[in-house]
Amino acid sequence: MSHPSKHLLAIEGLEPPHIADLLDLAESYALLNRSGKTQRDLLKGRTLINLFFEDSTRTRTSFELAGKRLGADVINMSVSQSSVNKGETLLDTASTLNAMQCDLLVIRHAQSGAPALLSQKVDAAVINAGDGTHEHPTQALLDALTIRRHKGRLEGLVVAICGDIAHSRVARSNIHLLTTMGSRVRVVGPPTLIPADAARLGVEVFHDMKAGLAGADVVMMLRLQRERMSGGLVPSAREFFRFYGLDAEKLAHAKDDSIVMHPGPMNRGVEIDSAIADHPTRSVIGEQVEMGVACRMAVLDILARRLPRNR
Ligand code: ASP
Repeated sequence: MSHPSKHLLAIEGLEPPHIADLLDLAESYALLNRSGKTQRDLLKGRTLINLFFEDSTRTRTSFELAGKRLGADVINMSVSQSSVNKGETLLDTASTLNAMQCDLLVIRHAQSGAPALLSQKVDAAVINAGDGTHEHPTQALLDALTIRRHKGRLEGLVVAICGDIAHSRVARSNIHLLTTMGSRVRVVGPPTLIPADAARLGVEVFHDMKAGLAGADVVMMLRLQRERMSGGLVPSAREFFRFYGLDAEKLAHAKDDSIVMHPGPMNRGVEIDSAIADHPTRSVIGEQVEMGVACRMAVLDILARRLPRNR
């Protein structure tokens, strides 16, 4: 089945075969990357612009690496270097990008919906690299690929997503992807950090880590996103760790072979104990980063197939 759109703006709306196609292609890129081979002809002559209005380490560099491994010309634009600081609007930026004849545009923005708006104004295929609290589709793909490599499937798995659900675009994209693929998703956190409409998304809500982690196959921890909180939604970092931070004692309630994930950046000692984050067999956090490159190669490849022929 081919990808349903010219862009990748969200996981919501994708059907199981679309997701499975992306994951299968990403798996082949993961193997290619491990073999040390490259495929530099695929995006030869294509221009990929990374337009980041918010900080990023993993996402920006892995899109850059993914583009370069497929042979694209990659340009990184960060806000501090661009005219956006001089008051240029998003739409003026769009016409500049059109004039540059960019083929693939990766955008991260603090405003939910900014990539969708831009996609209506630029000729390029747009990839959402995180917009406000809305979605972060490539993160959900890399998480799903990592889970599938460890568990062999997504269907029927119990996945506990824990911590600051309310401010997390990672949680939102993961919930859409995992429920679409038949996983049983739980969200675990204090009532102040769980959106009121969470159950509508098809997840079970828990406010207690012990109950939420009981029998889980996957434990996904999220960062406390203080930059998106308007008031004091959590008492203190210490208090948060006591009730919701993942340590060996809480992890003992999940299955013995459960895996631990985190999208990064991690607040060690706040949402996750260092001993768990660095655990040699349970933590798959390093592999998530590796799968990030493979998934972004798959997304670029699939979207490039729909682009008009090289100029
Ligand atoms: N890196 C992820 C994001 O951009 C998660 C986080 O920032 O906590 O949403």
